Amino acid sequence: MPHILIVEDEAAIADTLIFALQGEGFSTTWLSLGADALALQRQTPADLIILDIGLPDISGFETCKQLRRFSEVPVIFLSARDAEIDRVVGLEIGADDYVVKPFSPREVAARVRAILKRMAPRATAEAEPVLFRIDSERVQISYRNRWLSLTRHEFRLLQCLLEQPERVFSREQLLDALGVAADAGYERSIDSHIKSVRAKLRGVKADAEPIQTHRGLGYSYSPGHS
Ligand code: CA
Repeated sequence: MPHILIVEDEAAIADTLIFALQGEGFSTTWLSLGADALALQRQTPADLIILDIGLPDISGFETCKQLRRFSEVPVIFLSARDAEIDRVVGLEIGADDYVVKPFSPREVAARVRAILKRMAPRATAEAEPVLFRIDSERVQISYRNRWLSLTRHEFRLLQCLLEQPERVFSREQLLDALGVAADAGYERSIDSHIKSVRAKLRGVKADAEPIQTHRGLGYSYSPGHS
């Protein structure tokens, strides 16, 4: 069941949308702040976002701009004014569609359905889904479209493994990647970092084992076990 996130500060409008979307078989979440929507989308991504432009904290435009730094989720803007529409149409904000208030909730639900339908073949046609995405600037790695909360060492370790799939790295080589001096204590700390990274990956997909242990040798990243 596709999940729709509604970001709208007017309860009456949100209510009509929720009613129409649930009637079409969608599940919904409703938030009234842009910042909350960004935080939620990082944790549990919705399949589509309906985003009001006039929000009490940051505008829908700003919300969308920030959203596009980490997500490709389709966005439908809700606009109260023609002037806003000019910006949606005129600028490359990354919206997929927009509707002007007052609108028919059924019409919005129909557009949601149309966009998701358009997206579906695209998703299945992708031969290799993006399992990991590395954002070196923000020192973050996403796994199956979810950002992992990694320590700096965990980030470097996972980045090193991901950059050369199937290559077996010894603990010394991984220590090198972390930029710390090798001694017996640090070798064991590699094991504990790996353990922690694995737990975080399993938090996204319970049976995932993309990091393989090679007894007596070290560790590798195996996309086949992702
Ligand atoms: Ca509003």
